[in-house]
Amino acid sequence: MYKDQTSKHHELFIIGGGAAGLMAAVTARDQGIDTAIIESNDRLGKKIITTGNGRCNITNQSTATGTDEAAALSRKYHSNQEGFPIHVLRQFGVRQTIEFFSSLGLPFVSLENGRMYPMSLQAASVPGVFKLALEDRNVPVYYKHKVLDVTVSAGHPRFAITCQTETEEQVVYTSDYLFLCAGGLTAPKTGTDGSGYTLVQRLGHTLINPVPGIVQLKLDYPYLKELSGIKFEGEAHVIVNNEVIRTESGEILFTDYGISGPPILQLSRKAAYNLGIGESVTLSVDLMPERTEEELIDFLEIHWGIFGHRTVADSFVGIVSKKLIPVLLKEAGIDQQLHLLCQDLSWKTKKIFYRILKRWEFKVTDTNSFTNAQTTAGGIDTTELIEGTLESKLVPGLYLAGEVMDVDGDCGGYNLQWAWSSGYAAAMALAKRRVSAT
Ligand SMILES: Cc1cc2nc3c(=O)[nH]c(=O)nc-3n(C[C@H](O)[C@H](O)[C@H](O)COP(=O)(O)OP(=O)(O)OC[C@H]3O[C@@H](n4cnc5c(N)ncnc54)[C@H](O)[C@@H]3O)c2cc1C
Repeated sequence: MYKDQTSKHHELFIIGGGAAGLMAAVTARDQGIDTAIIESNDRLGKKIITTGNGRCNITNQSTATGTDEAAALSRKYHSNQEGFPIHVLRQFGVRQTIEFFSSLGLPFVSLENGRMYPMSLQAASVPGVFKLALEDRNVPVYYKHKVLDVTVSAGHPRFAITCQTETEEQVVYTSDYLFLCAGGLTAPKTGTDGSGYTLVQRLGHTLINPVPGIVQLKLDYPYLKELSGIKFEGEAHVIVNNEVIRTESGEILFTDYGISGPPILQLSRKAAYNLGIGESVTLSVDLMPERTEEELIDFLEIHWGIFGHRTVADSFVGIVSKKLIPVLLKEAGIDQQLHLLCQDLSWKTKKIFYRILKRWEFKVTDTNSFTNAQTTAGGIDTTELIEGTLESKLVPGLYLAGEVMDVDGDCGGYNLQWAWSSGYAAAMALAKRRVSAT
């Protein structure tokens, strides 16, 4: 059923009450702009509640030192248009984020590796304080309104936004300016089904192939079931065309589909991107990064010298996870020789052990899906946006903020930081534009 509700006019409508949309709404309202939010869910910030394992890693202060903080921060971001994020990050970085949330009544605590969280350590506090801030400012939120289409006209009002309400009615709201803050494709249950891409593509924008970022990797390896559950402090390298393109270290976990853990999530973007363009991607894992290969060889030679009377399997007890030992024996082709003693190990077999422990290579076949990913790499082409203001070059008055565009950050609070920074930059750009127009 179509119902024309042109009475619902606001100077600015923001599509998406997620991180970027909330930041943009508070900032725009504080600049005197008549602002309203349209959100398909029945609440604000549904995704934020799931972030940081329920604690919300809201930003990261490890780059907030030195003379050029924005430059240091910008190195945490990826986009086909390198150098695009810094124009936004210079306007609103980590310090401004801390001050902004403090002004809303949300102090932060800093935990591991500069990662910052709400003092409550509860992610729900973040949409909670935004809701209070919007109420304080009388910013209306149209909940359970899914935007189906946006049309642009040369006259007034400029934007017509067709939404489907919970009663399946279609309503049309209008605005002079429009912010698209509809997110990407990750965690679709939180409301991000990619419909934001469709809305702006219809207005002429280009979509750069979105792939899951910050996500687990699937490996092609016959003994994954045996390895599943093994955790170790290791180092992982992504290799493309015989070149290591990214290295990360920390706790790595084998799973029944492949591999996970913070270092894997961090380097997954490189793997996803290269798989997306048809490259063959290899993951090399170092199970003992605290020793060089020479040191490992010396150590094991002495160990096997002292315990030459033990079986090879027994000689690994206390050195690697017990679950790993049968796989090491299979890799070395001696899993049928359970009584083989260390003193009888051949040099060829030893070399296989050294290689596996230091340079164990796996073919990466895929990433896990958007359902398991934390961010979307790719998105709306940033060359179609004005640097620093995030206004569309194709549709004046339309601004983009957050994950919907082709900018994604590393793991560690950088994706939410992008949402805060870009939401702020777009709102301030609109405020300046209005001032200069009067
Ligand atoms: C499990 C998980 C953990 C994460 N942990 C962290 C972390 O700790 N730190 C960090 O920095 N980042 C983290 N991220 C990433 C971070 O949450 C996102 O990058 C960030 O929320 C993006 O903000 P956004 O406003 O662009 O999009 P979103 O927060 O996704 O918000 C988009 C909003 O738009 C609405 N919407 C979409 N389409 C429509 C439509 N057609 N009509 C109306 N409304 C619509 C959606 O319902 C949604 O509310 C995590 C992500 C996930 C999935």
